[in-house]
Amino acid sequence: MIFCPPTQRGLRGTDGCGDGSFGAPRGDRLHRGLDVLAEPGDAIHAACSGTVTKLGFCYADDLSYRYVQITHNTLPIVARLLYVLPDVDVGQAVAIGDVVGTAQDIAKRYGNGMKNHCHLELQAVDNAVLMGKGHRIGAEAWVNPCLLLEA
Ligand SMILES: [Zn+2]
Repeated sequence: MIFCPPTQRGLRGTDGCGDGSFGAPRGDRLHRGLDVLAEPGDAIHAACSGTVTKLGFCYADDLSYRYVQITHNTLPIVARLLYVLPDVDVGQAVAIGDVVGTAQDIAKRYGNGMKNHCHLELQAVDNAVLMGKGHRIGAEAWVNPCLLLEA
Protein backbone atom coordinates (compact mmCIF):
# COMPACT_ATOMS: atom_id res chain seq x y z
CA MET A 1 0.00 0.00 0.00
CA ILE A 2 1.34 3.43 -0.96
CA PHE A 3 -1.16 5.58 0.96
CA CYS A 4 -3.69 4.84 3.66
CA PRO A 5 -6.60 6.79 5.10
CA PRO A 6 -5.94 8.73 8.31
CA THR A 7 -8.75 6.90 10.14
CA GLN A 8 -10.90 3.85 9.51
CA ARG A 9 -14.19 5.75 9.84
CA GLY A 10 -14.83 6.05 6.12
CA LEU A 11 -15.34 9.03 3.87
CA ARG A 12 -17.16 12.22 4.87
CA GLY A 13 -19.40 12.19 1.83
CA THR A 14 -21.92 15.04 1.72
CA ASP A 15 -23.18 16.98 4.72
CA GLY A 16 -24.71 20.38 5.43
CA CYS A 17 -21.44 22.11 4.46
CA GLY A 18 -20.80 20.35 1.18
CA ASP A 19 -19.10 17.36 -0.36
CA GLY A 20 -15.82 15.98 0.97
CA SER A 21 -14.72 14.31 -2.24
CA PHE A 22 -11.74 15.48 -4.29
CA GLY A 23 -12.69 18.13 -6.84
CA ALA A 24 -16.03 18.97 -5.23
CA PRO A 25 -17.12 22.61 -5.74
CA ARG A 26 -16.21 25.17 -3.06
CA GLY A 27 -17.64 28.42 -4.38
CA ASP A 28 -15.25 29.53 -7.11
CA ARG A 29 -12.67 26.90 -6.13
CA LEU A 30 -12.50 23.15 -6.00
CA HIS A 31 -11.96 20.95 -2.98
CA ARG A 32 -8.34 19.86 -3.29
CA GLY A 33 -8.31 17.01 -0.82
CA LEU A 34 -10.28 14.02 0.39
CA ASP A 35 -12.19 14.21 3.66
CA VAL A 36 -12.11 11.15 5.90
CA LEU A 37 -14.35 11.05 8.97
CA ALA A 38 -12.55 11.67 12.27
CA GLU A 39 -13.99 12.45 15.68
CA PRO A 40 -12.11 15.01 17.80
CA GLY A 41 -9.43 13.16 19.74
CA ASP A 42 -9.18 10.29 17.26
CA ALA A 43 -5.69 9.06 16.49
CA ILE A 44 -4.63 10.24 13.03
CA HIS A 45 -2.40 7.89 11.07
CA ALA A 46 0.36 8.76 8.62
CA ALA A 47 -0.99 8.55 5.08
CA CYS A 48 2.35 7.33 3.79
CA SER A 49 5.85 6.43 4.85
CA GLY A 50 8.21 9.37 4.76
CA THR A 51 9.51 12.29 6.76
CA VAL A 52 7.56 14.98 8.57
CA THR A 53 8.55 18.15 6.70
CA LYS A 54 6.15 20.71 8.09
CA LEU A 55 3.78 21.32 10.97
CA GLY A 56 1.58 24.02 9.52
CA PHE A 57 -1.38 26.22 10.33
CA CYS A 58 -4.66 25.73 8.46
CA TYR A 59 -6.05 29.26 8.93
CA ALA A 60 -4.36 32.62 9.34
CA ASP A 61 -7.23 33.79 11.56
CA ASP A 62 -7.19 30.81 13.93
CA LEU A 63 -3.83 29.30 14.76
CA SER A 64 -5.36 26.51 16.80
CA TYR A 65 -5.97 24.41 13.67
CA ARG A 66 -2.87 22.57 12.54
CA TYR A 67 -1.71 20.26 9.81
CA VAL A 68 1.00 17.64 9.50
CA GLN A 69 2.90 17.41 6.23
CA ILE A 70 4.71 14.21 5.30
CA THR A 71 7.03 14.03 2.31
CA HIS A 72 6.78 10.57 0.76
CA ASN A 73 10.01 8.61 1.01
CA THR A 74 10.11 7.56 -2.66
CA LEU A 75 7.38 9.36 -4.62
CA PRO A 76 7.58 13.12 -5.39
CA ILE A 77 4.46 13.74 -3.34
CA VAL A 78 3.70 15.41 -0.04
CA ALA A 79 0.68 14.38 2.00
CA ARG A 80 -0.98 16.96 4.22
CA LEU A 81 -3.31 15.93 7.03
CA LEU A 82 -5.42 18.89 8.17
CA TYR A 83 -7.17 19.60 11.46
CA VAL A 84 -4.63 17.50 13.32
CA LEU A 85 -2.90 18.39 16.57
CA PRO A 86 0.63 17.13 15.83
CA ASP A 87 2.30 14.51 17.96
CA VAL A 88 5.46 14.39 15.80
CA ASP A 89 8.37 16.71 15.08
CA VAL A 90 9.72 18.11 11.82
CA GLY A 91 12.43 15.79 10.55
CA GLN A 92 10.92 12.72 12.14
CA ALA A 93 10.64 9.59 10.00
CA VAL A 94 7.22 7.95 10.02
CA ALA A 95 5.92 4.69 8.60
CA ILE A 96 2.56 4.43 6.90
CA GLY A 97 -0.10 4.02 9.58
CA ASP A 98 1.97 5.49 12.42
CA VAL A 99 0.05 7.86 14.69
CA VAL A 100 1.09 11.44 13.92
CA GLY A 101 -1.44 13.36 15.98
CA THR A 102 -5.02 13.70 17.11
CA ALA A 103 -8.07 14.94 15.23
CA GLN A 104 -9.36 18.43 16.01
CA ASP A 105 -12.94 19.72 16.09
CA ILE A 106 -13.31 21.27 12.64
CA ALA A 107 -17.12 21.10 12.77
CA LYS A 108 -16.95 23.75 15.49
CA ARG A 109 -15.47 26.23 12.99
CA TYR A 110 -18.00 25.67 10.22
CA GLY A 111 -21.19 24.44 11.87
CA ASN A 112 -24.09 23.76 9.47
CA GLY A 113 -24.04 20.06 10.23
CA MET A 114 -20.50 19.53 9.03
CA LYS A 115 -19.23 16.08 9.97
CA ASN A 116 -15.89 16.13 11.75
CA HIS A 117 -13.16 14.92 9.45
CA CYS A 118 -9.51 14.92 8.51
CA HIS A 119 -8.64 16.53 5.17
CA LEU A 120 -6.03 14.52 3.27
CA GLU A 121 -4.33 16.40 0.47
CA LEU A 122 -1.70 14.98 -1.86
CA GLN A 123 0.47 17.46 -3.72
CA ALA A 124 3.15 17.00 -6.38
CA VAL A 125 6.52 18.44 -5.40
CA ASP A 126 8.33 18.03 -8.71
CA ASN A 127 7.72 19.85 -11.98
CA ALA A 128 8.69 16.81 -14.01
CA VAL A 129 5.84 14.62 -12.88
CA LEU A 130 2.14 14.55 -12.17
CA MET A 131 1.26 17.69 -14.17
CA GLY A 132 3.72 19.89 -12.33
CA LYS A 133 4.66 21.25 -8.97
CA GLY A 134 1.73 22.14 -6.77
CA HIS A 135 -0.75 20.02 -8.70
CA ARG A 136 -3.15 18.30 -6.34
CA ILE A 137 -3.80 14.62 -6.78
CA GLY A 138 -7.06 12.89 -5.99
CA ALA A 139 -6.58 10.61 -3.02
CA GLU A 140 -9.66 8.41 -3.41
CA ALA A 141 -8.06 5.75 -5.54
CA TRP A 142 -4.89 5.77 -3.47
CA VAL A 143 -6.52 5.22 -0.11
CA ASN A 144 -9.32 2.99 -1.33
CA PRO A 145 -8.88 1.36 -4.76
CA CYS A 146 -12.35 -0.16 -4.41
CA LEU A 147 -13.83 3.28 -5.02
CA LEU A 148 -12.72 3.02 -8.63
CA LEU A 149 -14.76 -0.14 -8.98
CA GLU A 150 -17.81 1.31 -7.25
CA ALA A 151 -17.88 4.44 -9.41
ZN1 LIG B 1 -11.41 18.84 2.91
